[in-house]
Amino acid sequence: MTPRDDPSADVVIVGAGIAGASAAYFLAAHRRVIVLEREAQPGYHTTGRSAALFSEAYGNAMVRALTRASREFFSSPPAGFADHPLLSPRGHLIFCRADQKSELDAAAADMAATGTRIQPLTGAQVRALVPALRDEYAHAGVLDANAEDVDVHALLQGFLRGARAQGARLVTGAELRAAEFSAGRWRLETTAGRFAADVLINAGGAWADEVARLAGAGPLGLQPLRRTAIVFECAHHSGAQGWPMAVSADESLYFRPEAGRFLASPADETPSAPCDAQPEELDVARLIDRLQSATTFAVRRITAKWAGLRTFAADRTLVAGLDPLQGGFFWLSGQGGYGIQTAPAMGMLVASMIRGTGCPEVLQAHGVRMAELDPGRLGHGTS
Ligand SMILES: Cc1cc2nc3c(=O)[nH]c(=O)nc-3n(C[C@H](O)[C@H](O)[C@H](O)COP(=O)(O)OP(=O)(O)OC[C@H]3O[C@@H](n4cnc5c(N)ncnc54)[C@H](O)[C@@H]3O)c2cc1C
Repeated sequence: MTPRDDPSADVVIVGAGIAGASAAYFLAAHRRVIVLEREAQPGYHTTGRSAALFSEAYGNAMVRALTRASREFFSSPPAGFADHPLLSPRGHLIFCRADQKSELDAAAADMAATGTRIQPLTGAQVRALVPALRDEYAHAGVLDANAEDVDVHALLQGFLRGARAQGARLVTGAELRAAEFSAGRWRLETTAGRFAADVLINAGGAWADEVARLAGAGPLGLQPLRRTAIVFECAHHSGAQGWPMAVSADESLYFRPEAGRFLASPADETPSAPCDAQPEELDVARLIDRLQSATTFAVRRITAKWAGLRTFAADRTLVAGLDPLQGGFFWLSGQGGYGIQTAPAMGMLVASMIRGTGCPEVLQAHGVRMAELDPGRLGHGTS
């Protein structure tokens, strides 16, 4: 057996979505890393189904801190990471009706209090930015002008390529079936053979609680929530490429231009078991209805539709840290609707925690606090 085929590692990561890939990337220079992915393709599940937005105005205060701390990597990745920029200008507009103005003001005040750079907009300014919005829905708005589109494919491939270049190994078609921890070492059974490691990182996305159950840890009560998206063609609005992502204040609708078409979502959050999520006709119909109420879009044809599972902890903050009870078991889970925009900071943090060097100063400076991400906060350990 050559060293490359050695099924023994310091760290095995379960899941090659953006979470597992980013952890592998930042760890590979310091530990022997193997990434196990059940599917034939990394990113097949939630990572490949996102709306690809980077916005410092999205999520709770800790999510925003992780996002701010990720910007530097997105803007200036290491040489050779990707052959074109990972970010491109977009903007993130939150629009409201008159009856939603107090909600918008509260959200804006909360963002401003944590240092998020936002701009209040009048109705006229909202309409100038997104002329498709009906007057009633363009009463006022808040703009994060620094929000960007992310090239998710380039980000994922950059992480995986970089990890491999530093000696990490990715094994696809490798579903973890059993995990046993004894004498400080994991023995793992997968559909691609056996593996061993000192630390098992759980980056299983919607399956994170199931991966934990296999390993005798948790669960943390993580909840996968299905979200639907479509791409559609419509008449008019051909000059829309520069419009921002437009999100309703009650988060019941969002849309943005997508290469001559539009991407839209009803921002649904339907509880689901972990699975290969598929769009429901009812959710698509609701979306079209909301689009027709809020905008002047004449939807001609839906060219793509999909659904993905956004998996949340009860407090909607991501989870990173050793399990309080099960030795050698590390959670990297609960990425919710923010796993792409927070991936660089989370990968950096996890690598640092596994190496025992604590929270990097560069993350602390943005307000990232390990205690707030710790799985122990979720009060598990009784099951
Ligand atoms: C419609 C939609 C819009 C979104 N928009 C945004 C956005 O604009 N910005 C943003 O930052 N985020 C967004 N998100 C959220 C983002 O996509 C997720 O937070 C992120 O992709 C989660 O990554 P992950 O690696 O945790 O999960 P996944 O990508 O699902 O990866 C987990 C992997 O673990 C593997 N796995 C599970 N169990 C096992 C096992 N037993 N053995 C081996 N492998 C296993 C799975 O096959 C899977 O590949 C959106 C999501 C959706 C659905």
